Amino acid sequence: MKKTISILGSTGSIGLSSLSIIDKKKNFFDVNYLSANKNYKLICKQILRYKPKVFFINNNKIFKKIKKKFKNKKIKILNNYDLKNFYKTDITISAIPGIAGLKPTLLAVKTSKKLLVANKESVICGWNILKLSALKYNTKIIPVDSEHYSIFKLINNEKLDQIKKIFITASGGPFLNFKKNQFKKIKPKDALKHPKWKMGKKISVDSATLMNKIFEIAEAEKLFNISNNKLEIIIHPESLVHAIIELKNGLKKFIYHETSMIIPLANAIFENNLEIKNFYKTKFKNKINTLNFKKVSNKIFPLIKIKTKINELPSSAIIYNAANEILVDQFLQKKIPFLGISKTIMKIHRDSNYKKYAIKRPKNINEIIKIDKWARENIIKKF
Ligand code: NDP
Repeated sequence: MKKTISILGSTGSIGLSSLSIIDKKKNFFDVNYLSANKNYKLICKQILRYKPKVFFINNNKIFKKIKKKFKNKKIKILNNYDLKNFYKTDITISAIPGIAGLKPTLLAVKTSKKLLVANKESVICGWNILKLSALKYNTKIIPVDSEHYSIFKLINNEKLDQIKKIFITASGGPFLNFKKNQFKKIKPKDALKHPKWKMGKKISVDSATLMNKIFEIAEAEKLFNISNNKLEIIIHPESLVHAIIELKNGLKKFIYHETSMIIPLANAIFENNLEIKNFYKTKFKNKINTLNFKKVSNKIFPLIKIKTKINELPSSAIIYNAANEILVDQFLQKKIPFLGISKTIMKIHRDSNYKKYAIKRPKNINEIIKIDKWARENIIKKF
């Protein structure tokens, strides 16, 4: 029987990788809903090709244009997310970047049998709510960030108290071998040139600053209920090993796969029912001799110092995430230099009101948004 599948962020890098998997198994899926923001051409193409029941479009101008264009078609074009239009779905892929992904992910968890989470912000900012909903609605959550998918597989059948360390690998991004004086001249186009992964703009800049790994630490702490001091970031320029676990019995296990999100996505979609050959050609022999691992340099990546702070208080991650979203946006608009991102992030915990907000334990999305809003409006102004 066909499975129903939905994608939040279907025109982005993760969305397109997911659709390429669906393309290869057309008879296996019916597309329930897709969502995007402003990529007019691709939205039109996806409506015609996948014939979803609903297309959510965030950008108001594009929403009106598309609604007019498809007024005679049997499809609901909507521009806000509400529960009644989230049709029950077997598999939903959550891939809208930033806090914008939180609300739709919290609706998707109530209506999906299986939720594949790429949008790390919904885990780092909304895990308590997401987890409770998953329990209530009996939804299976599978992280698809390559590192977290690897950890998810590696700790399967292991007792948590037998885990000594979990290493999350970082490619080091485009500036791994930069000298200190080169950092002043970095332009947005340089930060977007990731040496190993093809990703959206926000996550590419976060990879260049290392903030992406800091968020991945926060995500792993929550998803796997593992303490911050058991998690470590390690530089691995080849990006072939995604996570390593070290057990108390002396064994170390790692997961190796090519730098393509198709692999975790396809494995999470099909679980144990997949021949990956159909999706991705894997080459192994020549690459195994060239695996390098090294310590993160705090000169190249000053944000490594945030690793112990990101989940220090219940809402720290919400504040860091909001401030970082604003800073990345300002850098992409050439309003602040590349180094301005890390300089401000490092000062956040010194803000006189930081603790007041960071100690809050939000119980619903509105309480999360209040903390996020405070951070967006205040943190950046002060530094
Ligand atoms: P992209 O920027 O490539 O794509 C983002 C998608 O979300 C697009 O469909 C975009 O629509 C839509 N979108 C953007 N802003 C909004 C908004 N405000 N409201 C609704 N929809 C919006 O991002 P990625 O695919 O790279 O990343 C998606 C998520 O997955 C992020 O949270 C990222 O951290 C995570 N992730 C990504 C990885 C990757 O390899 N790319 C790896 C691991 C995690 P439109 O195109 O119309 O603007």
